[in-house]
Amino acid sequence: MHTTYSDLVFELSKKGRKAYSLPESSIPNVDLEAILPTHLHRETPADLPEISELQVMRHYTALSNKNFGLETGFYPLGSCTMKYNPKVNEDIARYSGFSNIHPLQPLKTAQGALEVMYHLEESLKEVTGMDAISLQPAAGAQGEWAGLLIFKAYHEARGEGAIRRKILVPDSAHGTNPASAVVAGFDVVEIKSNAEGRVSVDALKEAIGPDTAGLMLTNPNTLGLFEVDIVEIANIVHEAGGLLYYDGANANAILGKSTPKEMGFDVVHLNLHKTFSTPHGGGGPGSGPIGVVDYLIDYLPSPRIKKEKQSYTLSHKHEKSIGRVKGYYGNFGVNVRAYAYIRSMGSKGLQQVSEDAVLHANYLKARLSPYFDTPFKSLCKHEFVLSGTRHKKLGVRTLDIAKRLLDYGFYAPTVYFPLIVDECLMIEPTETESKETLDAFADALIEIVNDVKEKPDQITGAPYTKAVKRLDEVAAARKPVVRYQKGTQAK
Ligand SMILES: *Cc1c(COP(=O)(O)O)cnc(C)c1O
Repeated sequence: MHTTYSDLVFELSKKGRKAYSLPESSIPNVDLEAILPTHLHRETPADLPEISELQVMRHYTALSNKNFGLETGFYPLGSCTMKYNPKVNEDIARYSGFSNIHPLQPLKTAQGALEVMYHLEESLKEVTGMDAISLQPAAGAQGEWAGLLIFKAYHEARGEGAIRRKILVPDSAHGTNPASAVVAGFDVVEIKSNAEGRVSVDALKEAIGPDTAGLMLTNPNTLGLFEVDIVEIANIVHEAGGLLYYDGANANAILGKSTPKEMGFDVVHLNLHKTFSTPHGGGGPGSGPIGVVDYLIDYLPSPRIKKEKQSYTLSHKHEKSIGRVKGYYGNFGVNVRAYAYIRSMGSKGLQQVSEDAVLHANYLKARLSPYFDTPFKSLCKHEFVLSGTRHKKLGVRTLDIAKRLLDYGFYAPTVYFPLIVDECLMIEPTETESKETLDAFADALIEIVNDVKEKPDQITGAPYTKAVKRLDEVAAARKPVVRYQKGTQAK
C-alpha cells in the first residue's frame, strides 16, 4: 500500500529530509555526553520524522479534513447544544490583554480581567434570576458537585447534615446528576417520570421525607419537555426542608423567557460552553458557573470577585464557603467568550435565541413524527425525542439509522438517551440553523427510514463514506487493538 498524507507522520519520513532551514549555530559545539549523567544518555537516537514543510502541511490538512465540526455540517446532538459559536467571540478571547495575562500577576495589573468576570457574573444573575454567581467550576458536572456541596453545607449548618442524606433525581436526568450526588457523598433516589415524560408529583410525594437533602431537576427536561408542575414540585421540596437544584446545562429554551429563580430553584449551574458560545465538540475547556439564592451566598466557592468603588479584587474571607473548587478563578477564556456573546446578543437577541431554538425543534419534530414513534406528543422546547421501535421490529436499530445519517453528511443525534425511551433518538437542532438545513436533515432521515423495509442491509452496514467504517463494537470492547499497525487502519 502506498503512503498517503493521512498515514502517520512517521511513515512519511525519509532520512535527511527537513522542514526547516536554520543558519549555522554560532555557539561552539557542546559535548552533551560529557555533561549529562550517564543514566540520562540515549541508547538509540530519537525516532523523529524527517519530512519536508509541504508534507507536514498536507499531512495535517488531510487529518483536519477527516474531522466533523459545526464548520462542516449540522450537528443535532441532543443535550449538547451544538450551536454555531460566532467567531467574533474567539477573536475577543484572543486579545492579548486577555490571553497573555497570568493568574498570579498582581491584581492591580489585572483589573480588566476582573471587571469582565464581575460583569459576566452580573449578566448571569440576570439570566438565572439568582442572587450571586461563582464562575469557578470548570464544567457542568463540576458545577453540580459544587452546588451539592452547598446543599450539604446548608443542611450541616442547620444541624441536619447527618439526617438529610438523599438526593432525588428523575429517571430522565442526565447521567452526571446522580454521579455528582454520589461524589458529593449523597445517596441517590430515582423518581419515576409519568406517562407525559414529566416528574410524577405522586412519585415525588412518596419519595420525599425528612431524609431528603434536595431534588435535582432539568427544566425543560432532557426529553425537551417543560415541567409544568414546577411550582408545586418546588413547594413540596421546600416544605419537606429540602433544596432544589437546577441543571441549566442547556439553557437555550429559557433565555430571557423564564428564570430558575422564578421556578423556585435554590442553586443552578449553567454550561457556558453549551449555551454561551464556546466550541466544545472536542471536549473542553468548559465553564459551569453556579448561581445561588440569597440564603446560600455564604457557601459559594472562595475566592469571590468583589467590586470596591472603582476597582476589583478577590475576597478570600468566607468562613462558611465550601472552599476552592478549581485552580485560580475558573476557565477565564470561556468566560470572555460568554461575556462577548451576551453583550453582542443583548437581551433581545437572547430572547430570539430561545424562540428560534424552540421553533426549530418543534418544526423538525412535526416533520419527523409520522416516520417514528413519538412517545411524548406535547410541544417541545429546545429538543425532542423520537423512538425507533417500529424500525427495530424490522431489524434496523436506532444505532444503524444514526450511522447511516453520517453518509448524508450530518452528525448523528444523541441515541439511547434518555434511558427511559426505547430506541431513543434525541434531536437538538439549536437556533442557528437555516430552514433549508433543517429540511435537508429531515429529508435524509425520512429517506433512510423509507429504506428500512426494502434495503435494510444498506442501513445496517453504514457508514460507507467515512474515514472509519462500521466497527465491530463487541470486538472493539473484547479484543481492542490499541497498537497502530501500518495498513490495518481505515483510510
Ligand atoms: C452536558 C450536560 C451536563 C454536563 O455538563 P459537562 O460540562 O459535560 O460536565 C449536565 N447536564 C445536562 C442536562 C447536560 O446536557
